[in-house]
Amino acid sequence: MSDQVEKSNALLKLSHDLGREDRGLAMLGEGNTSCRLDADTFLVKASGSSLATLREDQLVACRFSALLPMLQQQAMSDAEVERALLESRVDPNAPKPSVEALFHAWLLTLPGVDVVGHTHPIAVDQILCAGDEACHRYTEERRFPDEIVCCGARSVLVPYVDPGLPLASAIREKTHVFIEKENRHPRLILLRNHGLIACGASTGSVLAATLMAEKAARIFVGSIPMGGPVSLSPQHVARIDSRPDEHYRQRMLKL
Ligand SMILES: [Zn+2]
Repeated sequence: MSDQVEKSNALLKLSHDLGREDRGLAMLGEGNTSCRLDADTFLVKASGSSLATLREDQLVACRFSALLPMLQQQAMSDAEVERALLESRVDPNAPKPSVEALFHAWLLTLPGVDVVGHTHPIAVDQILCAGDEACHRYTEERRFPDEIVCCGARSVLVPYVDPGLPLASAIREKTHVFIEKENRHPRLILLRNHGLIACGASTGSVLAATLMAEKAARIFVGSIPMGGPVSLSPQHVARIDSRPDEHYRQRMLKL
């Protein structure tokens, strides 16, 4: 099997895993996935397709060089964005890539990020549609060790902005701040009133981060009637984050 076919099959499998109805991570056309093919191109879900039933002909190969310069622009009209999305396709007969291909393209340029999965999980969105305090606590604190192992010690929080170019620009700005401070890419980017983005080196790490983020959100929300979540101390979080046995586990589980 060629490298590209293998990557496309793995991305389809991830899409189906994220789109499973019983998991409540994405329904109908919600969410999208992508992976880097090589230095110049990446695969992304086509606009209007469903993760649960995604087919090979609904994965669009796009050129980074056609999309990344858009992030330097202050503003573009909807028609200009649409034209750029269509022009980014390697095959002009392929379907139109998702408008969220813009943030996928940028995230896939980060060192260590080869796969990106974006979903709208129910419990995560219960928090992201709630007040500032809940959003900040869910983003910046951790409640249990496996949340740290799969989702990282902290996440990025992005305020609500219009999907498309404004959202891609806001994600870039907030993720830059995170990388400057933490010296690594985030595993989770949380979008207020919208959903989450998981970034990783493999489809397995993206699925694990998404499922664990949703589990952590259910625990967070479920603890509210019992006095609210109690977070681990920063020392405990740092300890789990740096334990050699946890790093070994991350490697074995391909996280
Ligand atoms: Zn979305």
